[in-house]
Amino acid sequence: MGILDNLFGISSDPDYERPRRREPDYETSRRREPDYEASRRREPADYAPRRQERTAPNQDLPSETAIIYRSELDQLSRFILDYPNIETGGQLFGYWTGTGTPVVCYVIGPGYNAQHYDTKFVQDWDYLQRVGRELHDRYRLQHIGEWHSHHQLGLAHPSGGDVNTMSYGVGKPGFPRLLLCIGNCTRTTSTVNAFNFHENTPRRYVQAAWDVVEMESPFRSIVDTELQRLILPPMTRQASHGQIRSTRNIVQESATVGTHWLTESAENVETMKAFVGMVQSVFPSHTIKTEVLKTGEPQIAIKGADACIKLPYGFPAKGPILTDEKGRELTGDSRDEWEIGEEPLTTTFGRWLSARLGLYR
Ligand SMILES: [Zn+2]
Repeated sequence: MGILDNLFGISSDPDYERPRRREPDYETSRRREPDYEASRRREPADYAPRRQERTAPNQDLPSETAIIYRSELDQLSRFILDYPNIETGGQLFGYWTGTGTPVVCYVIGPGYNAQHYDTKFVQDWDYLQRVGRELHDRYRLQHIGEWHSHHQLGLAHPSGGDVNTMSYGVGKPGFPRLLLCIGNCTRTTSTVNAFNFHENTPRRYVQAAWDVVEMESPFRSIVDTELQRLILPPMTRQASHGQIRSTRNIVQESATVGTHWLTESAENVETMKAFVGMVQSVFPSHTIKTEVLKTGEPQIAIKGADACIKLPYGFPAKGPILTDEKGRELTGDSRDEWEIGEEPLTTTFGRWLSARLGLYR
């Protein structure tokens, strides 16, 4: 928690005042005669935010895109590949567009004294302070968010703990929005997904599509040169990207109707096989079958037990659903708690399985 908490105040514009959410005052505007004279007198700057409020994208909600320069996406890949078996992370600097889309201009990785654990990363506080201060004072770059890697945990989304941290941080003075990037990797390639948080809906984040600017960030060379003594570069020489969710492939996605977690990567198919094996070990004498419903959602059917485990769209952010063979949802006494943690998905699934099916056997 500490990192985000303590960061507020550094590298945010000191003059920035958290905008108060203003309700449109229809009452007043109805009562008043149009004052053409006044509107002509008003500066255009006065108008701009009001006009934007009525048009999509909605700046009062988390943005559905995240802008990043190619150099910074590459930098993330190299940082993630530095630690393929353990968590690593860093911070994102840049600014927000008028409609609330983050623009990532400069990415930093772990400092010398950062602590890396299997399922946790703690940034070097001193490193972050010094770099953050310089990036702000010299270039006015803002601290817009965090990134960390779930390395090979098989979790491409924020964990429950990540959501707690972000929802705690978003809405603090100067931080009406935050961007969280989650990295994943194999031994040779990395992927990174962007998640936007907004103070109006602190826990309901949006997975953003990357809008990649195909050029080096205008800040990359100059910062690397001027802060050479301070900045720790990645050890990995070359970026190596797996498939990323960008504004370009999002069009294809919607054309192929609903993508499911299962079809996102080959690793996920392996994870699914592990789920099936786990169900089989709970029901050693039953036949366990994987089926795909008409909706496109996969399920694990436990033949003879009149039970199916459906993985709905939105999995793994949404938990599995236990149904009977007709697809009717089965609810137990204790409502199941599916909370994805900073752990392999198989661990989360195992916990859910023993809680849900323990009473079923
Ligand atoms: Zn995490």
